[in-house]
Amino acid sequence: MNYNKLTCEDAQVLIMGLIDGELTSEQQESLKKHIDSCSSCREQYELFSKLKEETLNMKLKPLPEMYWDEYWTHVYNKIERRAGWIFISIGLILIVSFGFYEFVKDFLMNSTQPLILRAGVSVLGIGIIITGISVLREKLMVRKKDKYRSILR
Ligand SMILES: [Zn+2]
Repeated sequence: MNYNKLTCEDAQVLIMGLIDGELTSEQQESLKKHIDSCSSCREQYELFSKLKEETLNMKLKPLPEMYWDEYWTHVYNKIERRAGWIFISIGLILIVSFGFYEFVKDFLMNSTQPLILRAGVSVLGIGIIITGISVLREKLMVRKKDKYRSILR
């Protein structure tokens, strides 16, 4: 990996990642190097840092419209993805829970089965549901971080 060979386009993506706090220290380091030697990316970085700061402080000063558009488009995309993920999680939980509920009716409520077996299957089922959702979420998160990582290859 050569961290010194960032293009300006790569730097733009990393600037967004840095502002969102999603970069590794290596990525931050390479971005810093690029910014030190590239004045247009440095300006871009300073502008977006300022926008971020002012958004957090809620001190909205008049700034060129196009920068706000770009900044908010980026922020909204992130919010949308996060919201999308919450809906996916809820949907999955509902569907799997329904399947589980049907199973409970047929098997677990059957009093001819030993109580310990029924309790064991219940706990096992809950564990599988939680693990499945957690693994899926981790996969999606890792893919998101790969977006930045691939730049440095
Ligand atoms: Zn540059």
